[in-house]
Amino acid sequence: MHVVTRFAPSPTGALHLGSARTALFNWLFARHHHGTFLLRIEDTDRERSTETSVQAVFDGLKWLNLTWDQEVVFQFSRAAMHVTAAHQLVEKGKAYYCYATPEELDQMRAEAKAKGLPPRYNGLWRNRSPNEAPSGVRPVVRLKMPQQGATHVDDLVQGPVTVSNAQLDDMVLLRSDGTPTYMLSVVVDDHAMGITHVIRGDDHLTNTFRQLQLYEALGWTPPQFAHIPLIHGADGAKLSKRHGAVSVDSYRTLGYLPEAMCNCLLRLGWGHGDDEIIAREQAIAWFDIAHVGKAPARFELARLDHLNAHYMRAIPDAELAERLKPFLAISLNEKQHQRLLKSLPSLKQRTKTLIDLAKMATPYLTEAPLCYTTEALEVLYSPGNRAIIDGIFPLLAASTWTAVALETTLREFTEAKSIGFGKVAQLLRWALTGCKVSPGIFEVLEALGQSESLARLQSACDPKGG
Ligand code: GLU
Repeated sequence: MHVVTRFAPSPTGALHLGSARTALFNWLFARHHHGTFLLRIEDTDRERSTETSVQAVFDGLKWLNLTWDQEVVFQFSRAAMHVTAAHQLVEKGKAYYCYATPEELDQMRAEAKAKGLPPRYNGLWRNRSPNEAPSGVRPVVRLKMPQQGATHVDDLVQGPVTVSNAQLDDMVLLRSDGTPTYMLSVVVDDHAMGITHVIRGDDHLTNTFRQLQLYEALGWTPPQFAHIPLIHGADGAKLSKRHGAVSVDSYRTLGYLPEAMCNCLLRLGWGHGDDEIIAREQAIAWFDIAHVGKAPARFELARLDHLNAHYMRAIPDAELAERLKPFLAISLNEKQHQRLLKSLPSLKQRTKTLIDLAKMATPYLTEAPLCYTTEALEVLYSPGNRAIIDGIFPLLAASTWTAVALETTLREFTEAKSIGFGKVAQLLRWALTGCKVSPGIFEVLEALGQSESLARLQSACDPKGG
């Protein structure tokens, strides 16, 4: 069988982590089976669908590198096809016009409630002739659900699930304004697009029984279903804004790499033994529905941080530099670019996100004289410290510029003056970077190069605040 999956978001807001994970699972499943992954924008809710949200889906998928095959399908543009399917069902006697008034529907709801049942339609027009239609009422079209028996799904994640058909009322296919409902559109589109596997959140499981009845009425073979548990926050509650950032875009802005995000999403509900770090190619080779868990997965930021730190170290420096550029406040000239490349091997060992990395890299990229913070100025102005910088300056000016030679120079100086090596190293750090924390001082000296290091030491002797 040629596998065809789809991601079918409703463009009514940002692309959430849960939706992104659904997209990833569909994408991986298709790629694993050398199949096709389609994108369908479910924009039939005209009031809530926005162009910005459509763009957020495109941007999010592109960022995550989840490329879809074929043209994007916009569901609203296919409404005529959905309407035709409903009319065919009416002609075959499998659906009917319902002229129930709002008051009658209210009454049905009240009756169901009084019996402790969920609100449901009682079949008022199921066997009535449209000749009895009251004038001035625009009908809806309802599916004639079977009233006996049960509907069964062998869900690839949830296992076998059955509901009694008595629980499925005659659902609306076309609204009174003639527009198709989600239930109808999704079935007609999945069939027309040749979808073989529907992988989606388990909040859609209850829809599946109704959709299966619609497939049955239309005489179509349904796809296989896999309903994946929703994502929860670290506290075990359903992931929501309360837990912090929930959109893919916010993680991008916070400086996470798409590789880390995908790896993290993959591990939310799917596993391969104890493997934590699973890069793209490996994920394609290993992904299967059988190892999707039934319990909700918990999203933990610490895990994403850990993965991000890993991928930042794994990416070649030249590429990491490119990815870092949008996070830097300045655009780099060639000299700064080279300095960045030199500093990355040590900086990336110490940072978790591109934002952290950009912050740590900034002192390497600015030109002397530095603008020091008050905290830095207090250190640099202290008289003893000033004398140390004055003393070491000529030695550094005369030193060979390698880590080994610089270390020897510094040790000779500290021993001769009986000053702690750590104290001098920390003072140089303040002078050279304006920061309290940086990579090892010799790495800093090497990354900056001799002339920039000396220029900064000079500026530290006559420091300016910023
Ligand atoms: N548009 C639906 C949603 O965003 C998904 C429908 C489906 O996957 O069948 O929740």
